[in-house]
Amino acid sequence: MTQHHRPPLAAPTPELIARLTEIVGPEHALTDPDQQLPYLREWRDLYIGRTPLVLRPANTEQVSRILALCNEARVGVVPQAGNTGLVGGQVPFESGNEIVLSVSRLKQIREINPAAYSMTVEAGLTLAECRAAAERADRLFPLSLPSEGTCQIGGNLATNAGGVGVLAYGNARQLVLGLEVVLADGRIVPGLKALKKDNTGYDLKDLFIGSEGTLGVITAAVLKLFPRPAESATAMVALAEISHALDLFSLAQETAGRSVTAFEFIPRICIDFVLRNIPGTREPFPKTYPWYVLIEISGAKADGQAAREMEDVLGQAAERGLLLDAVLAGSLSQARDLWRLRESVSEAQKPEGGNIKHDVSVPIAKIAEFIERADRIVESICPGARPLPLGHFGDGNIHYNIAQPVDMGKERFLELWEPITTAVHELVAEMGGSISAEHGIGRMKRKDLERYKSAVELELMRRIKAAFDPNGILNPGKLL
Ligand SMILES: Cc1cc2nc3c(=O)[nH]c(=O)nc-3n(C[C@H](O)[C@H](O)[C@H](O)COP(=O)(O)OP(=O)(O)OC[C@H]3O[C@@H](n4cnc5c(N)ncnc54)[C@H](O)[C@@H]3O)c2cc1C
Repeated sequence: MTQHHRPPLAAPTPELIARLTEIVGPEHALTDPDQQLPYLREWRDLYIGRTPLVLRPANTEQVSRILALCNEARVGVVPQAGNTGLVGGQVPFESGNEIVLSVSRLKQIREINPAAYSMTVEAGLTLAECRAAAERADRLFPLSLPSEGTCQIGGNLATNAGGVGVLAYGNARQLVLGLEVVLADGRIVPGLKALKKDNTGYDLKDLFIGSEGTLGVITAAVLKLFPRPAESATAMVALAEISHALDLFSLAQETAGRSVTAFEFIPRICIDFVLRNIPGTREPFPKTYPWYVLIEISGAKADGQAAREMEDVLGQAAERGLLLDAVLAGSLSQARDLWRLRESVSEAQKPEGGNIKHDVSVPIAKIAEFIERADRIVESICPGARPLPLGHFGDGNIHYNIAQPVDMGKERFLELWEPITTAVHELVAEMGGSISAEHGIGRMKRKDLERYKSAVELELMRRIKAAFDPNGILNPGKLL
């Protein structure tokens, strides 16, 4: 059965609202539009939803009772964590019939086991709080995103978040040992196992990770922890062409292996934007260059090995003519300054007017070709538009963002969203890439998913959805 054959969803009745309110208590059942607003408006103001009720349950049992009631009444439920998602998945539709279920009060750290390198946390802990809890136990939880102060682990797992740590530690999926999930009908899937090996049939946990709230509500997770690196070496490298980044990346891997913990590429225009719009940032070199790569190498012991490996990489790269210049951070504050150039790009784009953003991936050997071809396509659709292709080189992940031409109105530029995005995604598909590397599908990329997934994959996804959520109450109209 596909979504089209299900009975339609209903608007919640006053009686249902009263029963749901009883579960969480009136203080945590928000009906006042002012109190609801932070749950209805997403980060970029692209979507502003409506809802009769925002529910803030305190524990898994309350989540279970809420879902059981909504399922019985066939009322749509939108799971939400930190509300930093970038594809509109966490906000309800404007029709105003769906209930928002926020996990942000599920904040317990149920267990930390440093010797076993694992911790069990509830879904509403922010990513920064998870990282801090691990650090207090002298361990590293390596997922790291610019939004980590606000996004929550339930949302990170529901979106299979990426970020700068993926190169060394994998994305969110690779950092989970077990999950506790509440199904649409209220049953709890008790999967909080701390097992690395568990070959007992289908891996249900992996289905929930990245399912964007459409298969179940994640209430807790067993996360993998790692030793904290004792030292790291950070360098900024200047390149003449982005095509040299592949050889440099390969060289860094050969020389430092898994100690390479970041390899981010940045075009000159991003540095210009950051220097212009972010106070306190500084030019990394006396001269300007077309491309920059930020490399981080980490070491388990504080014995200077990371810096030696970095010097080795830079020395060999210079001999092979791969780089034009390089600076190795001599202190923690210099390293922070270099990272700030990378991490401020998003913020630095805002004052430059309208932006059309893409979060795509292609095989890493094709990154340079992709950028060159995409730039030409964009120029042909909108002469003067300013592409800012940056991202996580080792993951093949390009944030192919485009700022409006200097002399064009924002509205006129944003009218070109559809033709530009279609052309960029066509190129991605032709090159064997993905139209969503990190952020997911949500509401924004649903049409693209239909276009670029094969019919057989879409059919399997719809069948999985129907098996987990036969009434289609979980995050209706998102992803599929
Ligand atoms: C400045 C900025 C930088 C960012 N950088 C990155 C980046 O580098 N890499 C990256 O991957 N993302 C990035 N993001 C996107 C975003 O932070 C991630 O997608 C994050 O994982 C979302 O977490 P959240 O708690 O905010 O989830 P939300 O936005 O609340 O929800 C996201 C999706 O998950 C579902 N969901 C939420 N909680 C649950 C739950 N408990 N159970 C089931 N489903 C649930 C929602 O329905 C929605 O579909 C960035 C965002 C911002 C604003």
